[in-house]
Amino acid sequence: MSKILFSGGKVIDPVSGKIKKADVLVENGRIRAVGAKIQPGGAKVIDCRNRFLAPGFIDLHCHLREPGEEIKETFTSGLWSAFSSGFTQVCPMPNTSPAIDSEALIRFELEAADAAKAARIIPVGACTKNRQGKELAELGGMVQAGTRAISDDGNWVSDAGLMRRIMEYATAFNLTVMSHCEVPELVNGPADEGLVATRLGLRSSPAVAEAIAAMRDIMLAELTGCRLHICHVSSRLTVEVLRWGKARGVEVTAETCPHYFALTNAALDDFNPNLRVNPPLRSEADRKAIVRALADGTIDAIATDHAPHSPEEKEREFENAAPGIIGFETAFSLGYELLVRKRVLTLPELIARMSVVPAKILGVEPPAIVPEAEANLVVIDTELKWELTRARIFSRSANTPFLGRTMQAKVVATVLGENSYFDPEQIKL
Ligand SMILES: [Zn+2]
Repeated sequence: MSKILFSGGKVIDPVSGKIKKADVLVENGRIRAVGAKIQPGGAKVIDCRNRFLAPGFIDLHCHLREPGEEIKETFTSGLWSAFSSGFTQVCPMPNTSPAIDSEALIRFELEAADAAKAARIIPVGACTKNRQGKELAELGGMVQAGTRAISDDGNWVSDAGLMRRIMEYATAFNLTVMSHCEVPELVNGPADEGLVATRLGLRSSPAVAEAIAAMRDIMLAELTGCRLHICHVSSRLTVEVLRWGKARGVEVTAETCPHYFALTNAALDDFNPNLRVNPPLRSEADRKAIVRALADGTIDAIATDHAPHSPEEKEREFENAAPGIIGFETAFSLGYELLVRKRVLTLPELIARMSVVPAKILGVEPPAIVPEAEANLVVIDTELKWELTRARIFSRSANTPFLGRTMQAKVVATVLGENSYFDPEQIKL
């Protein structure tokens, strides 16, 4: 569809926080006009009255499983899952098989992603060869190919001397280092260490495993001048460490994921393997600290950590289930329900934490609904109640504890350049 008029919607500018009623005309993948009473002139008209328009979302942290585990997800299925949920750009973590640690593999990713004709990827390369934490990966070549950030996600780079060198190179190449913070020697099991784990008889890991790792990396970022981003923050202690680092003026940012503000370990009573995530769900005090940190900006962004797994790997007893849940389909709705409706963030603030703030963290152009920009937008219905069913999930996997949940607020259309998605249940074309 080459010409579309989004008519009568409320356009959100997440930078100023302002919401303004306007028509938006998109032609050949670009925004041609934003304003009142734009004439369609042959454009397909989408009625956006009582709907919001906002810049497309950017996911800082997801797993698309290709190459190596196409049974769980592919670029096509994962990028459609993202796109149909409002994400126009996503950062696939390089912990694939093989790990994305070379220029050739970054180019492979970009080509495979492009063919999906949905969301785009912002490539993230590994810090070390095969993510083994021993030798630097081919950083120069990966930067040439378009890498914006590096991460050994799934592993923390334990060797402090090596991490220092990684950060020095990252500073020289203007890369963001994304750190999966977890001291491996402190990790003893899949639950948060404390009373709940003891009562349930689950092996556990303490929150300090995350906080100590974050503390070391913040200190190294200060030493090297590196832009550091802390992945999937799950604990109150790490929030305190972040506050300390930010107060020192270190260039550190952080993300959390919807499951860390939606759930706690109190839900583990029935040993649902879809509640096994890494880092683990923690206490209500941790959850509240995450919410407060989102409110005051200590945690900058919301990422999904979309982590598809096959039933074979997930439908096991809790301790042996693969860690991670899918997250694209539920991210915006959980944010709306638990942050906007509970007045933690305004709607423009929630959008910012999922779009322009991630862009800044990655050093890429922030999406904006302005004339002559590439079309990069979502249409949101905040009144819509919908049930998360398997049929509404584009991912190859369905490992989520939210299956069957009635959600409020939904992305009903996503446009990126010439790529578009319209929810067939909500928008009749
Ligand atoms: Zn991780």
